[in-house]
Parts: sequence; C-alpha cells; structure tokens
Amino acid sequence: MYNSIQYIIQVLYNNLYLGGTKMGFKKSLSTLALFLLVVACGQKNPVVSGTFEGTGSGRNGDIKVSVVLEDTKITAINILETMETEDIAEPVYTAMLQTIVSQNNVNVDSISGATMTSDGFRAAVEMALKTAGVNLKGKKTPVIFGGVEDAVQNFDVVVIGAGGAGLTAAIEAKNNGAATVVVLEKMASVGGNTVRSGGGINAAETRIQKSLGVPDTKETHFRDTMAGGDLTGDPELVHFFTDNAADTVHWIIDYVGAEYLTDYLIHFGGHSYARAVAPKYNSGENLIAKLKDKAEEIGVIIKTSTEATDLIMADGRVAGVTAKKSGQTITFNASKSVIIASGGFVANVEMRKKYNPMFDESYKLYTVSPGSTGDGIVMAQAIGADVTQMDYIQSFPTSNPITGELSDISFTRFAGAILVNQKGNRFVEELERRDVISTAILAEPENYAYLVWNEEIGKAGNTMANNQDEFEKLTEQGLIVKADTMAEAAEFFKIPADQLNATVAKVNEYAKAGIDPDFNHRGGLVDLSVGPFYIERITPSVHHTMGGLKIDVNTRVLDKNGNPIPGLYAAGEVTGGIHGANRLGGNAIADILVFGRAAGKNAALGI
Ligand code: ADP
Repeated sequence: MYNSIQYIIQVLYNNLYLGGTKMGFKKSLSTLALFLLVVACGQKNPVVSGTFEGTGSGRNGDIKVSVVLEDTKITAINILETMETEDIAEPVYTAMLQTIVSQNNVNVDSISGATMTSDGFRAAVEMALKTAGVNLKGKKTPVIFGGVEDAVQNFDVVVIGAGGAGLTAAIEAKNNGAATVVVLEKMASVGGNTVRSGGGINAAETRIQKSLGVPDTKETHFRDTMAGGDLTGDPELVHFFTDNAADTVHWIIDYVGAEYLTDYLIHFGGHSYARAVAPKYNSGENLIAKLKDKAEEIGVIIKTSTEATDLIMADGRVAGVTAKKSGQTITFNASKSVIIASGGFVANVEMRKKYNPMFDESYKLYTVSPGSTGDGIVMAQAIGADVTQMDYIQSFPTSNPITGELSDISFTRFAGAILVNQKGNRFVEELERRDVISTAILAEPENYAYLVWNEEIGKAGNTMANNQDEFEKLTEQGLIVKADTMAEAAEFFKIPADQLNATVAKVNEYAKAGIDPDFNHRGGLVDLSVGPFYIERITPSVHHTMGGLKIDVNTRVLDKNGNPIPGLYAAGEVTGGIHGANRLGGNAIADILVFGRAAGKNAALGI
C-alpha cells in the first residue's frame, strides 16, 4: 500500500512541477480519489472467518443459507432451507451461487426466469454477510455459466427448447434410433411454461377414466376441442391429438414415471367429461423433473443457457442449428434432423402486436416463462416456413397484478365470486369468456379489478384450502384481504364501502330471485350476505399463443407451398392449428406431449 501511495504522490509531483498537462493532473487526482475510496472501502471490512446464516424471501417462501467466510472471502454457501421449484431454482443454487463465491461479490445478476428465487437467495446471502459485519457488494457482475465449448458439435438430432414438447421429443428420438440427441435450452433451467403449468393432461378412454366409469370417447374429446376453438382447428391434427392422448398419458405415467392421481380426474371448462389426469402435486413440476431424469438416463444431452439463433441449411435440407452460449457461437450439426420445440411468443410484445394489435403494451404482464419469445417461429420463417392462426392469442383475466402469475385462488370466480371495479360496481358477467372479461378489465381506468367472495364460496372445490401458500403470498403483497365485514374489506382497497355494500345487496337480491337483470350471470349469482369476506385485486395477463408454425400430421414443418421442409420438425406451443381460436384448459400439456412424441419418432426415422 505504501508503495502505491508513494507512486501516486510521485505522479502528482511530476504533473505539478515537472511540466505535466492539466489533464494529466486531473487524471492523477481522480486516480488518487479512486485509490483512497478503495482503501476506505477495504477498511470497512474487518477480517472475518466463520459461518453465518441469513434468510431471504423467495417465490414460494423463505430461503435460508449459511455463508462460510475465511478471512472475509466467501468459500462456500450452503442452502439450509428452500421451498423453491427445483428445476427453476437449480441455476440459482449452482451458477449464481458459484459466481458469488468465485467473485467474492454478492452483487451478481439474477437468473432470467428465476428472478424471485435469485432475489431471495441474494438477500439471504446479504443478510448472512451483514451478520458477519462485512460488506461484499461490489460492481454488478453477470452470472458465469460453464466453460468454453467445442465450436462445432455433431449430433443425429438437435432439439430446440427444453419444455415439455422438447424433452418428450428428445426421449422418443433417442428411443427410435437416433444415437446422439442434444436439447438446446436458452434459459438457465429446463421446463419452459410446462413447469409453470397446472400439469393436467386431457385424454379420453384412459384406464383411469375406465376405472372411474367415465363414458367418454376420443370422438367426444375431438368434438369438444373443435368446438372450444370455434371450429377453426385443423381436423386432421385434432384427430391425431385426441386419438393419441390416452396412449401418451399411459406412457407418461408408466415409462417416464410422472406421478398422477389414479382416482380423480379434472373436469376443465368446455369439456363434456372429466378427462384430465391430475398431477399428484398440483403442477407441471413433477412432469418436467421426470422427463428430464428420463432423458438424461437414456443419454440425451441437455445444454442450458444455450440459445439457438439460426437454422443451418445444406443441400436443400435443415442440417443443424447455430447457437450462442455466454458469447460463444457454436454450430450444432444434425445428421438426421432438427426439431423446433421452443414454445410460444407470449413474452414478445412486438411479435404479439404484429399479429394481433389488441395484445399490445396494455397487457403489461404474462403468466409464462420469459423464454416464450417466438424464436423458433422467426428462425423457421427465415428459411421459408409458413405460419398459421398467429392472431389467436389467449389471456387469463384473473392474474396477479404484480407478478402476472395466474392466480389459483381466483378460481372462486367459477363458484360465485363477483367482479367489481374500483368504484365498487359490477361491470361484466363473471362467467364470460376469458377474452371478454380481460377486455372489460382493461377498459377500466386502473387496468385492474377485484374479485369479491365469502367463506362459503371459497370452500367450493377446496379452492381456499388448497391454495393457502398463494393466500399468504397475496397477503404479503397487499393483493388480498379477509375481513369480517364488507365495509372493512372495501376500506383496505379504498373501494367506496357504501357503493360496494349496495352492489352486494343487489347481488343478494338477484341470487334470491334467481335472475341477474344486470349481467345475466349464467351460473346464477350466489348469496353474499354471510362473511367473512375476501377481496382480491386481479388483472389480465397474456397466457397462450394458439398460432404458430404450420405442420402436417407427421409434425413436418411446411413451407408456404404446403411442402415439408426436409429435416425440420416442430411440436408444442410453437406450432399452430390444433386449438384454433381458443384453447381449452388441460389441452396444452396433452398437445405438447402427443406431438412431442410424434416429432421425436419422425425426426429419428426420417418420416
Ligand atoms: P412447450 O409447451 O411447447 O414445450 P415450453 O414453453 O414449455 O413450450 O418450452 C419451450 C422452451 O424453449 C422454453 O424452455 C424456452 O426457454 C425454450 N426456448 C425458446 N427459444 C429458444 C431458443 N432460441 N433456443 C433455445 N431454447 C429456446
């Protein structure tokens, strides 16, 4: 240190007295200031060794860590408690954690797609460091992902996207003769929207339906799906989908090992029967975890933080993919074929606007992974692929106004919760289609609205009991209130209590009379005279893109003349034509798995 001070004094002296320029003098002064700052900052931290604990608030609850310090250098971070979704949190607890340790700096970027987990984890480490009495918040640093890779890599089949469709396709490609299969995933973790979904899979004539005595048929599932999409879906694709859904459900349970209830089926809206197998743990997490395990078990290579940017053409066929990883460009040659399974484009507002101006910036939030930017569609269009029904975009009207996540508690709407605006007035029929309700909410000056219900309504379908985690989170976020009187609940959100009481009095009157002259509630209004009462603030969030790449029934991507592009297959939300104008609940996972399997098989066999 002494030598450095001596050096700076020498430079200052030279500049001042030995003819140095003004600029040089200024520069030297700022160097001295910076140096003194560094010294000062360094002095802030005492030399500390030991293990210190801290807690931060993640997406699903508290994250508790212990930080090991040796002479004020972080040597290890241990995760003591976490409730985060495993596959989403994985890069936080690996790459982000290792970057904090290697850089001895807690100010490391969040992992895209796992922001809340990253923030909670960082806060926990910061708290541990505070307890230790040290400040290791340096310059903002990007997460370091892995090392340098071979610039050219050769595989039989290259899959773009590690959501449900991509992982399924990779497994089937490997099992149908592709010796080497790689899945490229641009996010730091696998799962896409599939891991964020409810995980229910519609299928008619499954063994579960048979054992429960549900008299469903594949043909009825076909008709429901066509009707749900206003008869605009492609009947050939829809037939393939509904004919193969049951087999796929059995494959997912028996071969992949995903855990589904055997004595209960979900009856989603628009379906004639209860036909969706219900995930044991209420989400798509287990499905993705099992798909990933199975893919790795049979030798599929999965590369995360690897973003496909272009399709490579050679001799008139798709021969590989160019990708980027941490600034490095890598060529992935595909000797057999490429499968695009990169999901939809909900998270790409420019692309949404291009195809449907209604879905512009007024939709600030979405329920999906930030990876849903339509890359696969753009890449395929660049080599002449056709698209279909791109303007069919779906929003979910009752989502979390802070995070955009779909609110499970808001399912009280199906049991009698009413929708009111900031003035305390009803403004739309509560059981209207998703698009109608969303438009009505966005027409309100605040762009949000409220769901109002009582304890009795919350009991229907165990909605409140099953979603206590969400209730606690919404409470923390100030987005829900429970109160003994309607006036007290209204006060929390500054809704005029008199007006809300008047609205509810009318609802009670209509419930008794069995008519709703104001909005003609098709399910019949429910009495709201007995509390306790709940009010939740909600807003629409963009949820699903029905359109996408045009494929044939063999999952081959078609060009503008309707001819298959050699070597190119696609499956999942990146494709269009199956759901038509509107997708029914529970049909997304069924679609991505059925077509994912087909794409994997066809790509390996060259069908
Ligand atoms: P699907 O339901 O069709 O499987 P998902 O949204 O679940 O769709 O998964 C699509 C996956 O593709 C996401 O994990 C997303 O991050 C990934 N992805 C999107 N664009 C690219 C890209 N350019 N390169 C690699 N992966 C991508």
